[in-house]
Amino acid sequence: MARIDVKGLRHAYTDRPASEADYALRRVDHVFEDGGAYALLGPSGCGKTTLLNIISGLIRPSEGAILFNGTDVTDLPTEARNIAQVFQFPVVYDTMTVYDNLAFPLRNRRVPEEAVARRVREVIAMLGLEERANRRAQGLTGDEKQKISLGRGLVRADVNAILFDEPLTVIDPHLKWALRTQLKEMHRRFGHTMVYVTHDQTEALTFADTVVVMYEGEIVQIGTPEELFERPRHTFVGYFIGSPGMNLLPATLDGTTARLGSQAVELPGRPAMQPAGRLQVGIRPEFVRLGREGMPVSIGKVEDVGRKKIVRAKLEGEDISVVIDEDAEIPAEPHVTFDPAHLNLYADSWRLELGARP
Ligand code: ADP
Ligand code: MG
Repeated sequence: MARIDVKGLRHAYTDRPASEADYALRRVDHVFEDGGAYALLGPSGCGKTTLLNIISGLIRPSEGAILFNGTDVTDLPTEARNIAQVFQFPVVYDTMTVYDNLAFPLRNRRVPEEAVARRVREVIAMLGLEERANRRAQGLTGDEKQKISLGRGLVRADVNAILFDEPLTVIDPHLKWALRTQLKEMHRRFGHTMVYVTHDQTEALTFADTVVVMYEGEIVQIGTPEELFERPRHTFVGYFIGSPGMNLLPATLDGTTARLGSQAVELPGRPAMQPAGRLQVGIRPEFVRLGREGMPVSIGKVEDVGRKKIVRAKLEGEDISVVIDEDAEIPAEPHVTFDPAHLNLYADSWRLELGARP
């Protein structure tokens, strides 16, 4: 198992990158601590697979270095890095049995056959493949084949890290939850450094202790699920995490007062310096109160989502979503107030600390 340092990483798929836009990874610096469970979360095209493939050695980065336990491995081939990688689509030997597929990575490393049997049985049980153990992979369903791929990633105890690239994409929705839970259990038992790539916030937040959010080839925030929810550093995180995402309202600043059109919101403090750039107030739909007092809103549609309702409204001509209890009343003349403890202020998409007293 290893601590993985990613230093000053940049990567362009073209030979002569002309501008920042040519970089799939613009600049990434990060430390994956030994034994950590990380999710790399971000929309399609933000560079997740590129970063994973650089860690495993499938791609050599244009700039920067990868260190395993302090040793530079940037120039080492994949085989020398001792990494297990699980891809989006199954990689299995069709003519081998399920058992032999799982035993392969161990036999390849000359692990004694008794130890192979012990380990393979354990993984087979974990994945619920007992009845398939002696069947050839050929003819199994996509779900089952992907379980074998997962198993091949998990079977070796001595790997530096296990990298998962959207491994549950082809898995049936009702199985996803169970497999994710099992991966987390494997992490708890064996303590591998695990990096799990996904574009799905639920997968990221349930699997990982630390979520690394990527956007346009950069890391925009690293944090626990709570931190990402409570204090998004970048408007992208506010919007991407949460359902619905954070409300972002254009604002101007006057001391500790944020002005939203003709309305005013008192902030808990003010930024250390008068901010430059485009200002936005950020407030999550969960922290907007709908009532008879505050700022007038007009209600659009109301969506039922289980025990909650999402109210879509307009405040000073801007879209705003409010989450309310399913049995809560919507007043005839609806107004909103914001929970001051959960107000955020952004300048050009980056969060400002509101530490300074009025
Ligand atoms: P993600 O996994 O987050 O969806 P990728 O790392 O696959 O993102 O891609 C990041 C960017 O690099 C995208 O703009 C993508 O089009 C580009 N890209 C990925 N692979 C290649 C490749 N082999 N050749 C050229 N461009 C690529
Ligand atoms: Mg990808």
